[in-house]
Amino acid sequence: MSDLAALTPTESECLARETAAASSEGGGRVPGATGRKATAGLANESANAGMVRSGAGQIASRSTAAAKPPSGAEPLGLYIHIPFCARKCPYCDFNTYAGLEPIYEAYTEALCREMGWWAARLDGRRVDTVFLGGGTPTALGSGQLAQILSLVHERFSLAADAEISSEANPGIEDRGQFSLLRRLGVNRLSMGVQSFQADELAFLGRIHDADDALRAYDAATGAGFSNINLDFMFGLPGQSVQAWNDTLDKALALAPRHLSLYSLIVEPDTPLAHWVETGKTPAPDDDVAAEMYETAMAGLRSAGYGQYEVSNWSRGAGYACRHNLLYWRNQEWIGVGPGAHSHMRCPVSLRGGSKQGLSFLPGGVSQEGEEADSPAAAIRWANRKGVQGYIRRVETGESPVDFQEALPAEVSMGETMMLGLRLVEEGVSHSRFEAMHGQPLGAAFGPALNRLQDSGLLESDGERVRLTSSGLLVGDRVFSEFIA
Ligand code: SF4
Repeated sequence: MSDLAALTPTESECLARETAAASSEGGGRVPGATGRKATAGLANESANAGMVRSGAGQIASRSTAAAKPPSGAEPLGLYIHIPFCARKCPYCDFNTYAGLEPIYEAYTEALCREMGWWAARLDGRRVDTVFLGGGTPTALGSGQLAQILSLVHERFSLAADAEISSEANPGIEDRGQFSLLRRLGVNRLSMGVQSFQADELAFLGRIHDADDALRAYDAATGAGFSNINLDFMFGLPGQSVQAWNDTLDKALALAPRHLSLYSLIVEPDTPLAHWVETGKTPAPDDDVAAEMYETAMAGLRSAGYGQYEVSNWSRGAGYACRHNLLYWRNQEWIGVGPGAHSHMRCPVSLRGGSKQGLSFLPGGVSQEGEEADSPAAAIRWANRKGVQGYIRRVETGESPVDFQEALPAEVSMGETMMLGLRLVEEGVSHSRFEAMHGQPLGAAFGPALNRLQDSGLLESDGERVRLTSSGLLVGDRVFSEFIA
């Protein structure tokens, strides 16, 4: 096996911005609050709004801001992308594929090889969260899951209390599969239930029915999972508020520790988009979706759930998703697998990292000349999106990285705001912002903060800035104020 670090730069191609957090905990749109993936959907938008795009092997940096505190002191996440599903849902534009069972083994080998490469570069740095997302991680066979998770335990320095999440889909798992995940150290499950209404599940093209979902939840708790998230979608064409409330009641009856609620987005180039374009399906009604969102907020509050993020609620201390919190706090993660994104703050504390943190990337180049004058605030990179191409590259010792970019300070600061303001209670702390970016929040965004506070969309208690209840309903408008 050759070392990926020794490889030459790869060809750049226009890479769809699949997220490192391609998790189902984020598949939709909350009215007014930028949707799709709760984590990376925003990261994607922020990236589109201001980053300097470069070809692979080149980094463009335009910042002259002060260097940031070294990375390494903050939590680190590991996202593992499993791009397989039993069937492709008609609304889904994630980097996932059905019918690729014959390559599961080759994929697992390639993925483990990439993970091994990163384990060596992390050089013992503690990994606080691991997230198996997709896709449907449990589509893989038991041996393949064991191979991946064993490597995680053996090669990475996991925190003693590491959160290890896996997504799962009702309809294909049984108790044996969940028990295996528990034995392999997975301590959090995220299940894409989406609805308890038969007609809605059929419309969404899900492979499960409501009873399957209940059985899967029982199987998961029976296997020892106590930290379970359930995903639901609202704002479906033709969905009534009554049906939505019925789904919510059934979800609350299960008393999961975590709930993720997303409104349906019509993503371009999906079967759903075609149905809407051709009139086969009406477009989702934003006003009805907003009503459903407000209904859900009230219902979940009464049931004892705390809304810690625009689309996410948890019950009890410590049940917020720590991995997704990394994204919302604009912290650091490594994503492995096709289309996975990674994000590290600069200077990067990885073996082989240069001062600016570029040369450690597979196929990356160091731009020593720019480092002194134009330090980046963070870097982001992404793997090739296609599964077969990803496998081929890794198998032949070529880099899977297809693009990389240095984020100027103003872009990184904007992302800290866009992402952090999604955290309903936590918001963005003045002190944390200054520690991250080397300048006070007011100096970076004073006029925008004043405008939004005057409009009643943001509030500040002196220590942190957060959305007001009005701001929560028009999140997109608020977030756009911080994009250069
Ligand atoms: S289960 Fe459906 S929505 Fe989830 S990743 Fe697979 S195709 Fe997409």
